[in-house]
Amino acid sequence: MQDNVVIVGTGQAALSCAVKLRDSGYEGAVTMLGDEPWLPYQRPPLSKAYLKGETTADRLEFRPQEFFAKAGIGVERDSRVTSIDRSNRSVTTSDGRSYAYTKLVLTTGSRARTLPDVMTHGLDGILTLRSIADADRLRRALASAKRIVVVGGGYVGLEVASIAVRMGHAVTIVEMADRVLKRVAGAPTAEAIEELHARHGATILTNAQLTGFSDQSGKVAGVALESGTMLPADLVLVAIGGTANVELAAEAGLTVENGIVVDRLGQTSGTDIYAAGDCAAFPFGGRLNRLESVQNAIEQGGVVANAILGRPVEYEPVPWFWSDQYDTKLQTAGLAHDYDDILTVSVEPGCSAFWYFRDGLAVAVDTMNDAKTHMAARRLFGARVALRRELLLKPDFNLMQYVRTAAAPSG
Ligand SMILES: Cc1cc2nc3c(=O)[nH]c(=O)nc-3n(C[C@H](O)[C@H](O)[C@H](O)COP(=O)(O)OP(=O)(O)OC[C@H]3O[C@@H](n4cnc5c(N)ncnc54)[C@H](O)[C@@H]3O)c2cc1C
Repeated sequence: MQDNVVIVGTGQAALSCAVKLRDSGYEGAVTMLGDEPWLPYQRPPLSKAYLKGETTADRLEFRPQEFFAKAGIGVERDSRVTSIDRSNRSVTTSDGRSYAYTKLVLTTGSRARTLPDVMTHGLDGILTLRSIADADRLRRALASAKRIVVVGGGYVGLEVASIAVRMGHAVTIVEMADRVLKRVAGAPTAEAIEELHARHGATILTNAQLTGFSDQSGKVAGVALESGTMLPADLVLVAIGGTANVELAAEAGLTVENGIVVDRLGQTSGTDIYAAGDCAAFPFGGRLNRLESVQNAIEQGGVVANAILGRPVEYEPVPWFWSDQYDTKLQTAGLAHDYDDILTVSVEPGCSAFWYFRDGLAVAVDTMNDAKTHMAARRLFGARVALRRELLLKPDFNLMQYVRTAAAPSG
């Protein structure tokens, strides 16, 4: 069989892999099969500019149709892959078509976690946010709703809350943990974000356990909490994280944990089958990680392309992420796992850095409105330069200069 890459999914990781293959001179066929009606598009604006109505759906698409035609990358939309036949090296779509592959790449992404039906009873006005279609529904609902409850104090929920507040709505964020951003950031970052929301008029309820909903004629009317409180609501956004789309891989017998398990080259447990992006669980820092970020999707897509091209480069990421809330840009560099200390460095009001340390060495930093520190930190972690806590305490310490000097080749 002629070289032929089939990519399941048409998201950020799929695009990155396909473009890298072509840019590197891959001459076989490249076909992406996606179940959405769009060309590959950006998801971050769905909880930012797109939700605010500042951009249109076609502008979210990374590249126009002509680009794919010219690059010789096939994009099949509305095409859901339902099974993988590993022995015959082919996949089948829901409309019964079959695609043979020599290499298969799974970039199936993740989906928004939902609350069980016994809790929501299929009520109108309880939404999630993952796709353009979801964002359109949310936009329409925001236009008429007045009292909004966001379930979950993660990035997506907090971003939507900030937009709803700016629209003049009464917004309550319900978080079951003792603070927001519990899974992704330390307490000082969370405290600063909570303060930001409070200042703009949003209410954050922590340690708040949701028990159900009240309704009026099939439409949500309230959110019931374990404390006995009933929060009035005409719109509820459930933003409680993502679940990797692993079912296709699992049914094909590939090793799956909280994502499709891959090695440092993006190779799954199946011969000639790779995975990248939100759906993949990869080894890094002595554990299996699954990241839901643009950085991870782009870089891992590239890692898989390199492996297919026979030029393997192991995935050693410097994770980075951003979130826009009100006029604040929160950025993260590095991986805040297993840290034992956090240091807050305030540059000026509203502009801070929260450094995470393990054994006295910096491993990650969250910044608020401090892009300079964020960019310097990405270089620092990328160059594997050690940064001790004491240095950051020196009043005249210049991070970028330190990185430049330390990363410069010696001799
Ligand atoms: C609202 C929102 C805001 C975000 N904001 C940020 C941000 O500010 N910064 C940041 O770094 N990241 C952000 N992210 C995360 C980022 O968008 C994702 O990490 C990234 O899109 C992952 O790309 P992916 O290609 O792995 O998956 P996806 O973009 O999810 O693409 C996977 C595609 O595969 C399709 N698919 C799944 N199963 C099948 C199948 N069996 N057959 C065919 N197609 C299938 C899916 O429908 C989907 O279209 C945000 C995400 C959301 C939802």
